[in-house]
Amino acid sequence: MSERYDVVVVGSGNAGFCAAHAAREHSERVLIVEKAPRAWAGGNSYFTAGATRTTFRSLDDLRPILDDLTDAQAAEVELPPYSPEQFMTDMVRVTDGRCDRALAGILVHDAAAVVRWMHAKGIRWKLMEERQSFRVAGKSRYFGNLPLGTVGEGKGLIAQHTAAALASGIAIRYDSAVVGLLRDDRGAVTGVIVDGPDGREQIAAGAVVLASGGFEADPMRRAAYLGPNWDVAKVRGTPYNTGEVLQMALDAGAQPYGHWSGCHAIQWDAGAPPTGDREIAHRFSKQSYPIGIVVNRDAKRFLDEGADFRNYTYAKYGAEILKQPGAIAWQLFDAKTDPLLRQDEYTAPGVSRYEAGTIRDLAARLGLNPDALDETVAAFNAAIQPGDFNPAIKDGVRTVGIVPPKSNWALPLDTPPYLAFGITCGITFTFGGVKVDSGARVLDRADRPIPGLHAAGELVGGLFFSNYPGGSGLTSGAVFGRRAGTSAGQWARA
Ligand SMILES: Cc1cc2nc3c(=O)[nH]c(=O)nc-3n(C[C@H](O)[C@H](O)[C@H](O)COP(=O)(O)OP(=O)(O)OC[C@H]3O[C@@H](n4cnc5c(N)ncnc54)[C@H](O)[C@@H]3O)c2cc1C
Repeated sequence: MSERYDVVVVGSGNAGFCAAHAAREHSERVLIVEKAPRAWAGGNSYFTAGATRTTFRSLDDLRPILDDLTDAQAAEVELPPYSPEQFMTDMVRVTDGRCDRALAGILVHDAAAVVRWMHAKGIRWKLMEERQSFRVAGKSRYFGNLPLGTVGEGKGLIAQHTAAALASGIAIRYDSAVVGLLRDDRGAVTGVIVDGPDGREQIAAGAVVLASGGFEADPMRRAAYLGPNWDVAKVRGTPYNTGEVLQMALDAGAQPYGHWSGCHAIQWDAGAPPTGDREIAHRFSKQSYPIGIVVNRDAKRFLDEGADFRNYTYAKYGAEILKQPGAIAWQLFDAKTDPLLRQDEYTAPGVSRYEAGTIRDLAARLGLNPDALDETVAAFNAAIQPGDFNPAIKDGVRTVGIVPPKSNWALPLDTPPYLAFGITCGITFTFGGVKVDSGARVLDRADRPIPGLHAAGELVGGLFFSNYPGGSGLTSGAVFGRRAGTSAGQWARA
């Protein structure tokens, strides 16, 4: 045994850092072990836009953590309230009623307090004006209940977490993959086995927090659990979340929990690399589809682009792209909607962008049948009902008589130049994980805590099924990370 810590946290993403900060409040010696080299640290959390779902009665509730918001900027904000009850309703609604109500209850209950706690630790927050609002009548009107983001996005989040951790004496080891869990005769977890730069070593711990992500970056596990073709999906983030620590927890008796054949997957640039790009990060996302249409290789529409705000549909639409011929599709816009596209995503370097003066020419550029695309666009345009287009609310401007319908924001594609963006399925993270209790202690198959074992973040199951309310991943990592670190720190000192 080389060393002993009170708490060892596995993984340097948002969940791991939150666990480490909380553990440090209750214990002296806290260590984060991270498989990736330092240049790839931060897991999926690094790749995020930093969007974090929280609850508030008004902007006043958020202002104490918005260091840079001026009074003049605040006066231009139109922010509908978002209560814990609304967050819970969203969790139940988007998961088709399947989320574990106790775990979801903890998520929504802690969501407001945890962002204040993170702020006190050194995380800086801002309003995500460009991504989560539209200008309406001189105001920035926020839609979809997700105004809060981190300064510097995921990159800033990880830099701020790292600085705070080091300042409070938390040790971090990179290039150190956990390859096993140490257990005593009673089955309690007493440390980890690590393959580090100096070879294999055993590190003793009073308690261990697993925050090592899901299995989204392992093609074999994806095919095994998510089903056919998931092995060809692109990975949006870190290549290091390959599920072996999750498997170690199961081997130690943890109860598998949640949606093991489900995941968060989105419309992602067709030209993106197979796994995440540290520079472009989340900007391969293509999230303005609610104001356009999406067609497949047969030039047919296949989903309701306007079913809800992007924040409530995007995480399930990647799976719909994967089902299409060639697992490829195109988002179409025209000169009217071009200015409303998310600039950071649609003008990112290397984006798969096509432009033409007619729909037929656009089809030719995309390698689609011009007659078929002309027919699809003409039928769509003809099906649009009269109404006032407003992207900041569910405007009810819809189609009638075509399948699938478009339920909101149906604007005709009639103003050249026409634009198309090639997309495929990009997987974000997997929903299957282990079961935890309110202290984020890992439970066995009889719902008993496995002594010394705690978990947070993507490898906790039971919260998300088929879909997910945008921004809940960082909140979940923070809420359960904080609880895991607290209970681990207390357990280690007991
Ligand atoms: C491109 C992209 C954009 C996103 N945008 C958002 C957003 O804006 N808002 C939001 O809420 N969510 C977003 N998400 C989802 C979000 O990233 C996750 O829900 C959340 O960050 C997961 O945090 P985590 O700490 O559980 O995992 P991670 O941040 O992935 O951290 C897990 C860490 O564990 C390490 N690890 C793995 N195996 C081992 C091992 N054997 N030993 C040691 N370490 C190991 C990994 O290297 C990694 O660093 C996005 C994801 C991606 C990929």
